[in-house]
Amino acid sequence: MCAPVIASAPPDTINGMHILLVEDEPVLRAQLRAGLEAAGYAVDEADNGRDAHFLGDTGAFDAVILDLGLPVLDGLTVLRRWRDAGRTMPVLILTARDNWSEKVAGIDAGADDYLTKPFHMEELLARLRALIRRASGQASPVLRCGDVTLDTRAGRAMLAGQALALTSHEYRVLAYLMHRPGVVVSRGELTEHIYAQDFERDSNTIEVFVARLRKKLPAGMIETVRGLGYRLVTP
Ligand code: CA
Repeated sequence: MCAPVIASAPPDTINGMHILLVEDEPVLRAQLRAGLEAAGYAVDEADNGRDAHFLGDTGAFDAVILDLGLPVLDGLTVLRRWRDAGRTMPVLILTARDNWSEKVAGIDAGADDYLTKPFHMEELLARLRALIRRASGQASPVLRCGDVTLDTRAGRAMLAGQALALTSHEYRVLAYLMHRPGVVVSRGELTEHIYAQDFERDSNTIEVFVARLRKKLPAGMIETVRGLGYRLVTP
């Protein structure tokens, strides 16, 4: 039999990950935000250390991009406070050129990686993907669960070699679950990671996305754990 190949969502437009962007320079912040959104990230931003600290302390982020030179509260202090409070999300720091001591201090304070300004957006995106993969214990950019594969570079999901036609929200839900195979993920957690904070959130819509996703995936791949949430299993 010959199943039609259905176009999947355009590459590099969706990936299901939520980023906190902290940069006080407005032009650079706008450029970074545009680049991150074009790569499919949901983005929240802060332009000073106090707001950054609050957001990182209270929100659920898959990674943080943190400029070190910030008004109100400097980036190193923000990072130390997060780590002291047990916040473990991956943090990529942005440092000034030729300031090696800032890099050392940043890594000592708990940064996972750094980029020196100026840098290319492509390098930032590649480092971000690597950080997120490592944080979820995934070494490869292509995630697998049974016959389903997810190419995090291309933003593409395949079932037994055929492209899956997913909406951006369905892709985000699948991507989030595939980064955490076998782990129970609550509806609230999914909701927090699928939408940026300024987006109107409704955890009921997660049920709708999961129901649609199930129709496109092998039976039983997304398990409902009653009262707790969802779990991705190999059917
Ligand atoms: Ca700065």
